[in-house]
Amino acid sequence: MAAVRTVVVVGGGTAGCTVAGVLAQNKNFSVILLEAGPLINDNQERDFFGVLKSQDASVTHRSVSLTQTTSTDDYLQARGLGGGSAINAMVSVRGHEDDYNNWSQEFGCTEWSWSDVAPAFDALPLNLYEPNDNELGVVGEALLRGVPGAQRCALAWNNGRQSARIFLDVAQQTGALDVRTGAVVSRVCIKDGNATGVELSDGTVIVADDVVLCSGALATPHVLWASGCQHSAIGRGLQDHPAVMFSTTLNKPAAQGFVVTSHASIALDGVLDAGQMMAYNHLGDASRTLGGLGVALTHVWSRGHISVDGASTRVQFNMLSDSRDRHAMRELVRLAVVHTSTHAMSAIGAGWTCDENARPCSELLDMSDDELDAWVSSHLGHQSHAVGTCRMGSAQDPNAVVSPHGQVHGVSSLWVADASVFPRIPRANTNLPVTMVAARIANFISESARP
Ligand SMILES: Cc1cc2nc3c(=O)[nH]c(=O)nc-3n(C[C@H](O)[C@H](O)[C@H](O)COP(=O)(O)OP(=O)(O)OC[C@H]3O[C@@H](n4cnc5c(N)ncnc54)[C@H](O)[C@@H]3O)c2cc1C
Repeated sequence: MAAVRTVVVVGGGTAGCTVAGVLAQNKNFSVILLEAGPLINDNQERDFFGVLKSQDASVTHRSVSLTQTTSTDDYLQARGLGGGSAINAMVSVRGHEDDYNNWSQEFGCTEWSWSDVAPAFDALPLNLYEPNDNELGVVGEALLRGVPGAQRCALAWNNGRQSARIFLDVAQQTGALDVRTGAVVSRVCIKDGNATGVELSDGTVIVADDVVLCSGALATPHVLWASGCQHSAIGRGLQDHPAVMFSTTLNKPAAQGFVVTSHASIALDGVLDAGQMMAYNHLGDASRTLGGLGVALTHVWSRGHISVDGASTRVQFNMLSDSRDRHAMRELVRLAVVHTSTHAMSAIGAGWTCDENARPCSELLDMSDDELDAWVSSHLGHQSHAVGTCRMGSAQDPNAVVSPHGQVHGVSSLWVADASVFPRIPRANTNLPVTMVAARIANFISESARP
């Protein structure tokens, strides 16, 4: 019988829970999952804005710029067991099949084409939930009636549990899983090109046969740098979906319940699903009378980077720096404005507006390209879908930090399995793709340990 390998997983978010859960069910592995944040109460999970406001499950990064011209923007990331999966809006989308074929063909990740990943999505032990008529909410329902092709969202709402901790539930019964919260990893211990364990911020060293980094796309580069890894591609390739929000004062308050319940994919310049409209039944205001329409570009070219400046980390997204993205964003915003003027969408409230001064959305249609670019730039937001800072690819690819199996180039026994490894952001909210990627990398780690 093979000796049991000790694996340390750094970060108990979407990817970390998935990797730990998959590996702990393999009798050849003993898994220690280290999460910097606290345990997030299950009862908090459905209350999207409530969890975000409570701030004990998230951290707002302040050294972030979304565009080349903005100096700082707030950028929220999870901090607690379950990670983003425990605090997110639960929208579960796989992305377009061409996204993964592109990973395979353009980025040399040959085992990540649609024909490889579709069965992996199918195999995830998740029962996604579709809101029923009573749960749709007024904006969710209006989007379905007013926008061709709009659909109910598949939500990660598995029998009352939304987060990736589902993967831990089964594994914890096997006894080969040790979950520790409040455990901040400061570096990976690397000796002679081999990862030997991790050091925590209190100086404790945990010895391991393998270390899997799942700290998220903003934190994983930092852990690698702190561990002495110098690959020039670490921190580069950063992406998120640029987004703007429209709002309307509703005729009556939204009911308690799911916040995002329906969405519509938009084709732009012949690219399917290049944009997305998401119905927010309310925007977290106390009276729940503010409905929202999130308008996001999902097919994205622009890339940014993370860099270290002394003790601090700077995050520069460079959103809309590529002219193809600026063009597509203009088209998307104009289309979304047209959709807000349909009877179904407009009759639910006092009219859709596009800024804090209640400027009617329709005024955006009168703007020139330059004026609309300026409006987008000053109202730009994001979807907390950071990916791509430690991309997968072959050892010959100068932009690749890890192999297509997630192993860090140049360091044995060190893996990355979180949103960092995406070669390019898919046309999807990222949680489900991260889960699929993490489950596959866990399987690659299992295979690598076979005698
Ligand atoms: C507010 C919000 C809303 C979202 N809405 C959606 C949605 O509706 N649908 C969707 O598909 N996606 C959504 N997402 C995105 C999705 O949740 C993320 O893509 C996904 O969680 C990323 O998974 P990850 O494992 O890479 O990182 P995370 O889930 O962020 O996990 C990283 C974990 O690592 C921990 N960590 C960091 N550094 C250390 C360290 N040094 N030591 C130990 N632990 C560490 C962090 O505390 C965190 O818990 C949303 C995200 C946010 C924040």
